[in-house]
Amino acid sequence: MQEVCIIGNGVAGSTLALNLSTSKKFKVHLISEEADFFFSRTALMYVYMGHLTLKQTEPYERGLWNDSAINRIRGRVTALNRSAKQLKIDEHSRGTRLLNYDILVIATGSKPRFIRLA
Ligand SMILES: Cc1cc2nc3c(=O)[nH]c(=O)nc-3n(C[C@H](O)[C@H](O)[C@H](O)COP(=O)(O)OP(=O)(O)OC[C@H]3O[C@@H](n4cnc5c(N)ncnc54)[C@H](O)[C@@H]3O)c2cc1C
Repeated sequence: MQEVCIIGNGVAGSTLALNLSTSKKFKVHLISEEADFFFSRTALMYVYMGHLTLKQTEPYERGLWNDSAINRIRGRVTALNRSAKQLKIDEHSRGTRLLNYDILVIATGSKPRFIRLA
């Protein structure tokens, strides 16, 4: 069984994790610092307007994640050792740990790049 580490539990990382988790070929680790459960970023405006809670923006029931074989890790990946195929994860209150992988997927989203006008 191959160990797959996915960094980022947004739509990209979460969708991949759910798809891979049904295969017996992979053990999936889903690492993200922002939230325990995938939520829809596009619905955030409704949270800010007070129409939804953050939990109501989660497209999947939490039970789906808990029942799946996905190992969800809440923490920030702070270092990547490609030759050793190893991640360093800061799990905040639980401290730092190392995690080995066979396959790494970086699904950390992006940052906006602002256009300089004039
Ligand atoms: C308010 C809002 C409205 C939007 N509306 C639309 C829309 O209408 N249509 C549209 O097409 N798009 C929209 N978008 C953009 C869309 O949400 C993003 O394109 C999409 O969420 C990107 O998904 P992703 O999985 O690639 O990354 P993200 O959703 O950004 O998820 C990446 C995750 O990785 C985590 N992460 C990053 N670095 C690390 C690290 N070192 N260690 C651990 N975790 C890490 C981040 O905390 C984050 O949770 C909107 C975005 C926002 C915020």
